[in-house]
Amino acid sequence: MIDLDPIQPICIAGQWHQGGGDLYHSLYPATGEVIARLHAASLEDVEAAIVGADRAFRESGWAQRKPHERAAVLYRIAALIRERSEALAQLQRLDNGKPIRETRNLVASAAATFQFFAAACETLEETITPSRGDFVTLSVYEPMGVVAAITPWNSPIASEAQKLAPALAAGNAVVLKPAEVTPLAALALARICIDAGLPPGLVSVLPGKGSVIGDALTRHPLVKRVSFTGGTRTGKHIARIAADKMMPVSMELGGKSPTLVLADADLDHAVAGVLYGIFSSSGESCIAGSRLFVTREHYAPFMELLAAGAAALRVGDPADERTQMGPLITAQHRESVERYVELGLQEGGRLRTGGRRPQGEVFDRGYFYTPTIIEGLSNDARLCQEEVFGPVLVAMPFDSEEALLEEANASCYALAAGIWTRDFQRAWRLGRALQAGTVWINTYKQFSIATPFGGWRDSGLGREKGRLGILQYMEQKSLYWGLNEQPLAWAGGQR
Ligand code: NAD
Repeated sequence: MIDLDPIQPICIAGQWHQGGGDLYHSLYPATGEVIARLHAASLEDVEAAIVGADRAFRESGWAQRKPHERAAVLYRIAALIRERSEALAQLQRLDNGKPIRETRNLVASAAATFQFFAAACETLEETITPSRGDFVTLSVYEPMGVVAAITPWNSPIASEAQKLAPALAAGNAVVLKPAEVTPLAALALARICIDAGLPPGLVSVLPGKGSVIGDALTRHPLVKRVSFTGGTRTGKHIARIAADKMMPVSMELGGKSPTLVLADADLDHAVAGVLYGIFSSSGESCIAGSRLFVTREHYAPFMELLAAGAAALRVGDPADERTQMGPLITAQHRESVERYVELGLQEGGRLRTGGRRPQGEVFDRGYFYTPTIIEGLSNDARLCQEEVFGPVLVAMPFDSEEALLEEANASCYALAAGIWTRDFQRAWRLGRALQAGTVWINTYKQFSIATPFGGWRDSGLGREKGRLGILQYMEQKSLYWGLNEQPLAWAGGQR
């Protein structure tokens, strides 16, 4: 097990010491118990981490190592994550209350991410472009320097690996700011990076408030890129700061993803997929399928099955392997989910199931909420347009494919969508017409590190994952290599 020290040190430019900011507690959302005490980073810590990262970038030789040598360190990181996987999965469960089944998958995904970007790094090709003159032209990539990675609380270890692995593979240094309420996985990852032989200083982890630490990181002149995952409002704020610095950013933001159940869908598959799409991770998932459209002719029987399925989900102790839904992240977040449910009802919605805190001793101290389905709203209701980030599904019938597409696309978000149909042509037609970064057909919330991920519109900018995901952490450069034996004609004639 990872030792949860009474006061957790934080990692600043390769050194472990107490943060200079306020003392705060990390709580286990299932019981409200304190699982770790730590001092947030101070602004002085931010400065030290960035200056240290810049020095490590310039002096450690990491960026100059051959790609296969950097890859070797990343392969070791992947191996260490696997070696420590059970401890990491338990840590992540305590850190954010997700069921252990889920945190084991997240840890496995973090290891796979390092392995994948190690391979991407050692196989990344630079190109000789077609020459159009007396020169050879090449397109090559250079690391950027210090990258700031800012992550949310909902799947820490996976989101953090998704940024650390490609940024390090590309030869950069990374200053990582995890969400204030879930700092532990990031700190554990930093230890692993150092244990795997990453030169010290290349990774720092700065827990603390986003408006202080994240903001200072974003504004710092030595930070050359921000990779952000979190809410749309925060993302836009960071993008504005980045615009002044002319700094590239990537943004993985919120969503309100539609799921479409067509008349010819396999109903058992669709019910299971819709339940998983919205209620896994307690709905605290950017790609949660939170708006459901079901063909009117099958709406009533489908909703019967769905509501029964939702009511039967096992909400409870995250340490129990059978648990499907754990608590929400904090008491405040549960209150925000409750306010959204109330709002939906005020807007004219009807509660089909859920809409309350579960009762019983196991739930008394944690931030649990029942899987909730609300019907009777139109797509322009606030509950259908705003991200709840909790286990709340709004369900609506539809009459025609045309109206369906219009409503499904009518959102400021465009992160993901799901289609359930056995009609191949229809799946193709809808799959191409839906406006979203990811469309799942007859499945939902499946992920592959090999496949690009990101959102359109208010759901984000840029793409993570995929073999070329490493390129967002590199600057492209064109080299022209002259082959002319005579001076350039324009001035050469002067001599
Ligand atoms: P958030 O925007 O409040 O916080 C995200 C991170 O940004 C945290 O580390 C926070 O401390 C930091 N932050 C806050 N204010 C900042 C500022 N002014 N400057 C710099 N950093 C700042 O989001 P959250 O509540 O932690 O996470 C939930 C949101 O994340 C949801 O909207 C969800 O959809 C989104 N999300 C998106 C994806 C994706 O891949 N698209 C994945 C997971 C979560």
